[in-house]
Amino acid sequence: MSPGGRWRLERDEAVCLGQRRGGCRKVTRDPEIPALPGVTTTSAVADNDSAKLRALVFSKTAAFRHDAIPTALAAIQALGTEKNWQVDSTEDGAFFTDAILSHYDVVIFNSTTGDVLTDTQQAAFERFIRSGKGYMGIHSAADTEYGWAWYGQLVGAYFRNHPAGTPTATVLREDKTDPSTQGIPDSWSRTDEWYNYQSPVNPVVNGGGTDYNPRNTDGVHVLLKMDESTYAEDDGSDGTDDDHPISWCKKYDGGRSFYTGLGHTQASYAEAGIRSHIAAGIEIAAGVLPSAACGVAAANAGMADSRLVRVSRRA
Ligand SMILES: [Zn+2]
Repeated sequence: MSPGGRWRLERDEAVCLGQRRGGCRKVTRDPEIPALPGVTTTSAVADNDSAKLRALVFSKTAAFRHDAIPTALAAIQALGTEKNWQVDSTEDGAFFTDAILSHYDVVIFNSTTGDVLTDTQQAAFERFIRSGKGYMGIHSAADTEYGWAWYGQLVGAYFRNHPAGTPTATVLREDKTDPSTQGIPDSWSRTDEWYNYQSPVNPVVNGGGTDYNPRNTDGVHVLLKMDESTYAEDDGSDGTDDDHPISWCKKYDGGRSFYTGLGHTQASYAEAGIRSHIAAGIEIAAGVLPSAACGVAAANAGMADSRLVRVSRRA
């Protein structure tokens, strides 16, 4: 569906501002959602037809708030400038309607926490993924929406706990061919807050439960994992260096999911390895960068225009 025209949000509806190919379409918000005093024209403004992809960065927190959220957003915006993405941002769950989400190829959960979406907003996001779109989760995106079973499967696991502080540890590159790991060495020593995970099924809200290997979730393809011999992981079996994925992707419910557990610290987003990892993850999730494991097929590699990819997916 062509979104059509420039548009902006007002209190009662999104209003077309101009004309372009295909004309202008009025977008009406779901009537059950109240007025949006927090929405401004700085987010979700106009569709850039020449952009490689359109991304919505969602940074709402209902629990712990990471001080790296603005840093991560700025990094994604800079990547968008470099790579010709349209990047819009919001911390308002009311953006999760069919009419608004349809403008985007990927929604990035930027260290969200807690219960950030209503049931109605969740249903809209499920339809968005089912329409062939993408989800990118950064760090505490796994510490989000414990009561939404569909989301648990989308991400692949929930947050369990982490060892104190930001120790130095080694990340191992498991998938050496995926675009999202090309800027990362096979053995990557860095500092971060290192998550352990719990099952996506019946999780303990806000963390807890039994240590879980996300590799055991249906569809999960592991990209990066921890070398547990390089730090005290506090996963309940510190004496055993067991399998510990930290970034993975999966095809899910008609769409694509990409998750990285990295990125607690502000400093992370200045690292070239993190920036290339996140940039490729966003493009894979958006469906504009082929990934054998979790993205569109390589047959679509020549289709740089995301709208062409969209058309091909509908066929
Ligand atoms: Zn954190």
